[in-house]
Amino acid sequence: MPMMTAQQYEESLRALNLEVYMFGERVANVVDDPIIRPSMNAVAKTYELAHHPAYADLMTARSHLTGNRINRFTHIHQSIDDLVKKSKMGRLLGRKTGCCFQRCVGMDALNALSIITYNIDRKYETSYNQRFTQYLRSVQENDLMCDGAMTDPKGDRSLPPHQQPDPDHYLHVIEEKEDGIVVRGAKAHQTGAVNSHEVIVMPTIAMQEADREYALSFALPSDARGIVYIMGRQSCDTRKMEGGTMDQGNLRYGGHEALVVFDDVFVPWERVFMYGEHEFAGPLVEMFAAYHRQSYACKVGVGDVLIGAAQLAAENNGVAGASHIRDKLIEMNQLNETLYCGCIACATEGQKKLSGTYAVNTLLANVHKQNVTRFPYEIARLAQDIAGGLMVTLPSEKDLNAGATQKWVKKYFRTQPGVRTEDRMRILRLIENLTLGTAAVGYLTESMHGAGSPQAQRIMIGRKVNMAEKKKAAMRLCGIEEDDS
Ligand code: SF4
Ligand code: FE
Repeated sequence: MPMMTAQQYEESLRALNLEVYMFGERVANVVDDPIIRPSMNAVAKTYELAHHPAYADLMTARSHLTGNRINRFTHIHQSIDDLVKKSKMGRLLGRKTGCCFQRCVGMDALNALSIITYNIDRKYETSYNQRFTQYLRSVQENDLMCDGAMTDPKGDRSLPPHQQPDPDHYLHVIEEKEDGIVVRGAKAHQTGAVNSHEVIVMPTIAMQEADREYALSFALPSDARGIVYIMGRQSCDTRKMEGGTMDQGNLRYGGHEALVVFDDVFVPWERVFMYGEHEFAGPLVEMFAAYHRQSYACKVGVGDVLIGAAQLAAENNGVAGASHIRDKLIEMNQLNETLYCGCIACATEGQKKLSGTYAVNTLLANVHKQNVTRFPYEIARLAQDIAGGLMVTLPSEKDLNAGATQKWVKKYFRTQPGVRTEDRMRILRLIENLTLGTAAVGYLTESMHGAGSPQAQRIMIGRKVNMAEKKKAAMRLCGIEEDDS
């Protein structure tokens, strides 16, 4: 089964036996839970569009392992064209779902591991790349959704893993066996965790010799014994339990994050892709981060939705022609398209690595993500400006439809002839969802902290920029001699 349909994906999740907790209770039926379900719908879109002729070119690729047509989310980039299509796919899905569709993290983990396992083997004559390739083949052939699990809880941030008062604050090996290892620890903020078939674990920071037991990468089925999921809350999340068709803003899609606990979990050797090669922990983090910073093409697509909603809100209010509104919408578009430039540029300036995988340009990917930590906030501010205060003072859907209040809500929130009060309210609810509600997790906070917080990108920008070359260019033009001594 090289490519699952959305329906097959949903059924495949039903076959899993995940240990998921939310609001203090175990979730018996993860797929149909009203709070989790919209996030499953968003991932399902990545399966659905792969079968759509109009999107096949972006959503699918040919496997370099089997030659089969596969979902691009399981593909190892074989060219610049692949990298560009990845960015375009992110924008497309962001526009289709208006939220985080969660599947990029696993794709980025697979691509980073395809490079780093190869590099480890070159140095140590290990066989990680062969193991990884075997694993990749099964991910591609079964069209699996993978959670890329990087972020440890980190405990005391001033201390490296091996000096933590609680040694489990970074995920580590607690026992070596003949047939594998036993691991303990946790990964925080795991996007799409309970919608995943697989969890791919990577280290979260560069490590020293003393951190060897923490320099670890492996993959496990998401329902492996000992893996526990604790769902994160999002603002306004319980609106999804109200059963209406308006107040949640985005009626079908959403994202989720979870704390994933590894409570002494066994990993067979054939699923271990790094263990102890501490000097490769940093390069793996950097490679994954560069790919994932490119993936923030998704926010351009979500920005498209928000800009469209702001335009509609202005039209509904009868102010779309006002010059200051037009100018704000231009500003929103300029910021959003600037983000698009970044995710396309880091792809077109990509490079082939020794393993054969194409990697993005690290400097440009970091510049792109740094812009993502800022521009969506400004786009959201402008959308709220255009929407007006009603976005947060609006009565509920029930008040719009209930006998006693219906006539007042309809009368006093009516604007121009031809604009239905209900439609005006729906657009405002969508803007609320994107800038303050459940989707604000993905559009704003995740833009800030996902794929590393702003400072992480600034460090990489400082490291990757060629300052010597810039100084030389300046010196040459004003006649300063180079000092050869
Ligand atoms: Fe993908 Fe964007 Fe969600 Fe990250 S935030 S998983 S890049 S959709
Ligand atoms: Fe993310």
